[in-house]
Amino acid sequence: MKSLMYLGPGKLELMEEPIPEGDIIIKVLYSGICGTDMKTYLHGHHFFKPPVILGHECIGEITKINVKDTEFRQGDLVAVAPYIECGNCDSCKRGVPALCKNKTYVKTGCFCEYIAVDLAHARKALFKISSDGPVYTLVEPLACVLNGMSQLKEMGKEYLVVGGGPMGALFAIALSSLGKQIAVVEPGVWRSEQIEQITDVSIFSRQKEVSGTYDGVILAVNIPELIQEYLPLVKDGGDLLLFSGYAKDKRALIDPYHIHYREVTVSGCTGFSSLHFKEALTMIQKYEAGFNKLISHFFSLERAEEAFTLLKSGNGMKVVIRM
Ligand SMILES: [Zn+2]
Ligand SMILES: [Zn+2]
Repeated sequence: MKSLMYLGPGKLELMEEPIPEGDIIIKVLYSGICGTDMKTYLHGHHFFKPPVILGHECIGEITKINVKDTEFRQGDLVAVAPYIECGNCDSCKRGVPALCKNKTYVKTGCFCEYIAVDLAHARKALFKISSDGPVYTLVEPLACVLNGMSQLKEMGKEYLVVGGGPMGALFAIALSSLGKQIAVVEPGVWRSEQIEQITDVSIFSRQKEVSGTYDGVILAVNIPELIQEYLPLVKDGGDLLLFSGYAKDKRALIDPYHIHYREVTVSGCTGFSSLHFKEALTMIQKYEAGFNKLISHFFSLERAEEAFTLLKSGNGMKVVIRM
């Protein structure tokens, strides 16, 4: 099968690989490019040692079943959760399954023609979908967004999303779908124009231009200095959510006045749990047209490297590889 192999920072190559073996074989139909894929492509990632196939936001069709007694059938269309929590470890039992210590993973990335899943994993991680719409590649990133939204102690009315990349835009669509008023801070002209077309938002090009205060501020950019800059813009008792990931040695100076005297909660979130994945699927089924607008470009697997170059330029929202 054709596979897009990651060979180190800046190096991707289309290669011929054997179809993986496993209980259930899925033909990949669409795979979204995630921020993690981009980070790995540009700078490398401790989790993805080359040579490796990247990609974890896919939908596909079950083409082969190598086990008996399964509820799955050939031809089933499925959204694939790239990992799933164990349900038994300390984190799972303490109610933070997104931080599970014994997650099980799909064996390979999905920038390729086929993936294999074991039955035990499939039962928890394959979600049947009614159509092969590429919009379902957004279930995984939306699951991460819903994990973030679940951290907000007070679901108020007005939210500010800092950063208008694909994840910031996904936050804006999800919150707008729930009837919230959204403002987005995004300096890039192309991205701000895109977001305005995708969903109903006010746009500010930088922090100094932002007017008013917000029930929640979501940082979808990983610049530590922004934490202090945006704390004063959170309403009393509101939330500041650190959605983007920060490297381990990063430091931020903040004024704890806002946390003590104004009861602002600073929280974070990482990844998703199976519950968020299910909620994301339901949400996309309900607001499919709105989420569909987030996909700005399609590329074939043969031209996937151009997709990474486009994303690097900042002139792409959600970019999807069509197999
Ligand atoms: Zn992702
Ligand atoms: Zn666990």
